[in-house]
Amino acid sequence: MIPVIDRNRCEAKAACVEVCPYDVFEIRTLSSPQRAQLSLRGRLKAWAHGNRQAFVVRAEDCHACGLCVKACPEQAIQLRVLSSV
Ligand code: SF4
Repeated sequence: MIPVIDRNRCEAKAACVEVCPYDVFEIRTLSSPQRAQLSLRGRLKAWAHGNRQAFVVRAEDCHACGLCVKACPEQAIQLRVLSSV
């Protein structure tokens, strides 16, 4: 299992960064191609938050505890089986 972030929901509130015991997440700036893939609403949201979002940077360290899924105030994180991502 690895966490997958919904780019149209994430608002970089960093609850996942704080709660994950294994440092799987970091807050980073969206690239231009990543911004281009967002919905109009997603682009507006991203702009309002400085184009910053959470990124999965150490997926291999995920222990599938589910803490990030529960902590995210935007319900932006799902755990998915690696082969289905
Ligand atoms: S499921 Fe647990 S270990 Fe995996 S990224 Fe979320 S908080 Fe971290």
